[in-house]
Amino acid sequence: MSAWALVVAAGRGERAALGKNKVLHAVNGESVLRRCLRALEESGLFDGCVLVLAACDRAAYEALCASEGRSALVKCLAEGGQTRQQSVYNGLRSLPETAEIVAIHDAARPFVTTDILRRSIELARATGSGVACAEVVDTIKAIGEDGRVTTLDRSRLRAAQTPQTFRRAEILAAHARAQAEGWQATDDADLYERHFGRVTLFTAPDSPANIKLTTKEDFMRLGSDTFRIGAGFDAHRLVEGRPLVLCGVEVPSPLGLDGHSDADVAVHALMDAILGALGEGDIGRHFPDDDEEYRGVFSMLLLARVMRLVSERGFRVANADITIVAQRPRLSPYIEEMRLNIAEALGVQSDCANVKATTTERMGYEGRGEGLSAQAVVLLTKGSV
Ligand code: MG
Repeated sequence: MSAWALVVAAGRGERAALGKNKVLHAVNGESVLRRCLRALEESGLFDGCVLVLAACDRAAYEALCASEGRSALVKCLAEGGQTRQQSVYNGLRSLPETAEIVAIHDAARPFVTTDILRRSIELARATGSGVACAEVVDTIKAIGEDGRVTTLDRSRLRAAQTPQTFRRAEILAAHARAQAEGWQATDDADLYERHFGRVTLFTAPDSPANIKLTTKEDFMRLGSDTFRIGAGFDAHRLVEGRPLVLCGVEVPSPLGLDGHSDADVAVHALMDAILGALGEGDIGRHFPDDDEEYRGVFSMLLLARVMRLVSERGFRVANADITIVAQRPRLSPYIEEMRLNIAEALGVQSDCANVKATTTERMGYEGRGEGLSAQAVVLLTKGSV
């Protein structure tokens, strides 16, 4: 018995506030729509798919197909309507007569599993409908018109998801009647139930994962689609009569680092790493050492400016790791304070900033006590929205 998918991708996704159709948005390098179609395709359960798209998204869809590849499952595009119900109706009318079963699915649920799809189809074959649902985990309160609150029995509640699978001819009849009689429903199960009187719901072990990407936060939770890595290195000479400032911490020492600013070699390496990740050159370009403004400046203040650049570019720091190379003084008593300083400046949890110190076993300029050097590596991420 031939089974088709009807994928609804015609929503405006206004609650996601992405400035475009949310399902055309990439999450971890793949559009939500492509991911959804891939899940359907890989299930091996469908003979074809009708994709319902708003006319204004056709060009963006074609561009996605050009970059991500075209799903072989999609046999036909249907035009979206003013409402989801209208979009589904348009899609149903585009299905071939040979399609006996149709799984109506929202493109914004890209994590649907083969098990859920299979159960849905099997129930539709056996009973006429198979509507994916999730158990309700929150306690649901109903507010009456008089403001009185009733707590509902959670064990009797289900949150309807998609796929919602039916016999094609039957759900088409239910939609046609809804059209004729002016019914408005938010899902197809509702229309089916009004027309046929009973609908079959099911929950599956995977139901909690079959989430609908709705808000901006849903997209952000899915992680980032851009990573940038940067490396930085700096060295300064040790001289008398200067403080030794490392990661913003003044370390007691007879010698300090020479330089135009406070010569915080560790923060300089870190800033270069961040600027490198942003493709923004180096600190010499941003804070020239012949500029009087930066004479003796506390480098942590410059780091704050670099961090402003990071956020202006839509990035945030995922983690940073700094290595300070110094034969002396012993830095271990100050490392934790340095780390907390850096974590705060970068706006990350303390375990996402690391500062460590090493010697060179008396080799080289650090080993001879002529100077200190520092290296830094940083990872920047950009949210997918
Ligand atoms: Mg420097």
